[in-house]
Amino acid sequence: TSFDAMGIREDLLRGIYAYGFEKPSAIQQRAIRPIVDGRDVIAQAQSGTGKTSMIALAVCQTLDTATREVQALILSPTRELAQQTEKVILAMGDYMNVQAHACVGGKSIGEDIRKLEYGVHVVSGTPGRVHDMIKRRTLRTRAIKMLVLDESDEMLSRGFKDQIYDVYRYLPPELQVILVSATLPHEILEMTNKFMTDPVRILV
Ligand code: AMP
Repeated sequence: TSFDAMGIREDLLRGIYAYGFEKPSAIQQRAIRPIVDGRDVIAQAQSGTGKTSMIALAVCQTLDTATREVQALILSPTRELAQQTEKVILAMGDYMNVQAHACVGGKSIGEDIRKLEYGVHVVSGTPGRVHDMIKRRTLRTRAIKMLVLDESDEMLSRGFKDQIYDVYRYLPPELQVILVSATLPHEILEMTNKFMTDPVRILV
């Protein structure tokens, strides 16, 4: 399979090829199509499989860049991963003029406010700071269509469970959810039952 055959929009394909990718990795081949079709997806995958680019492509594919509202929210366990995901989204989405912002602890709240008020399509952040921004009404959730939970098992082992549920409560009911995790312990399956509808399961 090629990226061309996957139903990916033209301006995003340009971004993928400019980034230097030629062919989708296994997880990209298997996860992007159901995501493009609007399905909830549980991807059991480790880092190194191309999961970050899979998330970036799935997110960019669903955006309407004619408005500058937050339409996709990605939660990650660490600042570094949240920032890396933001970077890949900006690179792949370059020809779509995607605006993204990393909302992470330890960085200036003033900068978060400035960026979110200017308007971005995608927020990639850690659960604590994202919840904080939502409570301040700086991060508006009403146009969010997709929630991505990256390295979910790692988020739970870092104690973010309550904050993930807190964030989830602010999101619209019509929500596409993508969950990525290396392992699927009981607490993750609980989350998938609560947040997801008839998910497609992918193991790579
Ligand atoms: P990840 O699992 O997302 O951390 O990706 C691991 C590495 O694989 C990163 O350096 C990516 O840039 C690279 N990568 C991901 N997908 C592809 C692809 N389709 N073609 C070539 N390299 C890729």
